[in-house]
Amino acid sequence: MNIDVTSAGFDTDSAAGSDIRSVGVVGAGQMGNGIAHVCTLAGLDVTIVDIKPDALSKAMATMARNMDRQVNRSLITADERDEALVRVKTATDYAALAAADFVIEAATEKEDIKRLVFKSLIPNLKPSCIVASNTSSISITRLGAATDRPEKFIGMHFMNPVPVMKLVEVIRGIATDEPTFQAVLALAQKLGKISAVAEDFPAFIVNRILVPMINEAVYALYEGVGSVAAIDTSMKLGANHPMGPLELADFIGLDTCLSIMQVLYEGLSDSKYRPCPLLVKYVEAGWLGRKTGRGFYDYTHTPPRPTR
Ligand code: NAD
Repeated sequence: MNIDVTSAGFDTDSAAGSDIRSVGVVGAGQMGNGIAHVCTLAGLDVTIVDIKPDALSKAMATMARNMDRQVNRSLITADERDEALVRVKTATDYAALAAADFVIEAATEKEDIKRLVFKSLIPNLKPSCIVASNTSSISITRLGAATDRPEKFIGMHFMNPVPVMKLVEVIRGIATDEPTFQAVLALAQKLGKISAVAEDFPAFIVNRILVPMINEAVYALYEGVGSVAAIDTSMKLGANHPMGPLELADFIGLDTCLSIMQVLYEGLSDSKYRPCPLLVKYVEAGWLGRKTGRGFYDYTHTPPRPTR
């Protein structure tokens, strides 16, 4: 596997990079609002599209709250926050993305949902528009083939929370052309991110390593090796991780963790990636972590209370 880490040393004013002025974000969940946040602060016009109007209003409120925090820490000024929030529009109709130079899909981590998104989205875009997916694990080549423009299709995988985390994984599908790749590297740099280039293998680099560790932590819980608190404390104090693996799973979303394990299991045909039955059960119960108020911790308590 040829993995190349680059600090994206490209000129932000290069023709391809500076052509991106108007950005569409599909999916207003935790990742969508973060991507919109960094794009608008970089001076780009942003339109977020989601099928759920309440997800859009929640995303705007989250973005405003997170920008307030940045103002309080003197990372941005109040004027920059106000101007940035005005640049973000929301819509439930893909027609709102007709003028976009770049659209990033950040909808639910399910291949059939993403295919439906592209089917409805693509007819609304101008031919020159670059289309990216923020998928954590699904093949960029396969998603690109479901569009009319595999050469202008690419993986741009932001980390959560987007305004804080420096990394963006950039993944070329087999058909992605060089100008698209260069434009996305330049965009990442404009957003203040560092790019790592990953080949198009299941879950790319970060999640190929991170999510099996989380799955193993769920197995340790399932087999009674330790409680939620013992497992998280062990990895924080014993391995110097800033968050315990179960706390991190709740932060990512247990549905997203399960989907990534399923992609690894099926994509690499190796039983070492089998999702833990306890993770499956939590997702079936709708206990998806922070976003639903309960996962391995119960977030109706302050501080959150371990559930096992
Ligand atoms: P989320 O569940 O918070 O949000 C998903 C959003 O997609 C929801 O608002 C939902 O209404 C919307 N959606 C569903 N179907 C749609 C459709 N047909 N059209 C438009 N919107 C639709 O999920 P998330 O955590 O923001 O993850 C989004 C993507 O980002 C996934 O591909 C995920 O793998 C990836 N990702 C997640 C993380 C993480 O830590 N959560 C990190 C990096 C990448």
